Amino acid sequence: MPYFTRPRNTAALRSGAQANRISSRRRPATGPGGRRVEMALVDGVGCWRRLPPAPLSFSGRRALFLDRDGVVVSEVGYLGRPEDVALIDGAGRAIAELNRAGVPVVLVTNQSGIARGYYDWTAFEAVQREIERRLGTQGAHLDAVLACGYHAEGLGALAVDHPWRKPGPGMLLDAAEQMGVDLASSWIAGDQARDLQAGRAAGLAGGLHVATGHGDAAQGRAARALASPAFQVTTATDLLSGVLALGMTPLGAPSC
Ligand SMILES: [Mg+2]
Repeated sequence: MPYFTRPRNTAALRSGAQANRISSRRRPATGPGGRRVEMALVDGVGCWRRLPPAPLSFSGRRALFLDRDGVVVSEVGYLGRPEDVALIDGAGRAIAELNRAGVPVVLVTNQSGIARGYYDWTAFEAVQREIERRLGTQGAHLDAVLACGYHAEGLGALAVDHPWRKPGPGMLLDAAEQMGVDLASSWIAGDQARDLQAGRAAGLAGGLHVATGHGDAAQGRAARALASPAFQVTTATDLLSGVLALGMTPLGAPSC
C-alpha cells in the first residue's frame, strides 16, 4: 500500500474519517520469536498499543520505558516511511542486553505526525515493523509498544491534548496496568525532558537523558532539573552507555 501524501491524509483526517476507518482494527500480528501478538488502536482513534502474548508474565518486574525517535532510531522529523529508519549505534545492543537480563522493554512514542496528517497508522505500523526487523538482526526485541497519535493542534478527532501524550504519563500507566510492571522501580530513557517528565509523573524511579536526537545541552539541563528525592535523573551520551550505567543488565555497573 502506498504511503499517504500529506494533502490526501490531511483531507481524510480533517473529518476524522481516516482515523475512524481503521479504528476498529484489533488483529494478531507476529511478534518476537514468531509469537502471535495483539496490536490495535485501543480507543479507536489515537492510542495504539502492541502487547506481548502474555502481558502479565512481566508482573512485578522493573521495566525500561524507551522513547523511540532520537533514542532508538535517528531523529528525521516525522518518521513515516520504513526506508527512513536508521537505528542509532548501540541501541540494538542496549535492548538486547535488557532482553537477556529479563528487563521488560516498553517503547512509548508520541506520534504527532499522525495528528498532523503527515502519515497514518498503517505507515506507523510499517515503520515499527522495520525498526523491529532491524532490532531482530541484533538479537533485540521490544516487549511492548505504545504510541499516541493525538496532538492539541492536530486534525479532526485527533486534535486532543491527551494524557497518553508525553509529558503525560498515560502510556506508562496503561502499560503498567496491562503488564503489571513495577513502576516504582522502573526507568525511562529519552532525548527530551518531556520523556522524563512522563516518567516522573508516572512515579518511576528515574529517567535517563541521552544526548542523541534532540538531546542537546538545553534538554539535558531541563532533564536534570526534574531530579528530586523520589526521581533520579542521569545523563549519558547514548542509550547503550546509559543502559550499562544504570546497572539493569549483567554488564552494567550500579549507578550509585
Ligand atoms: Mg525523542
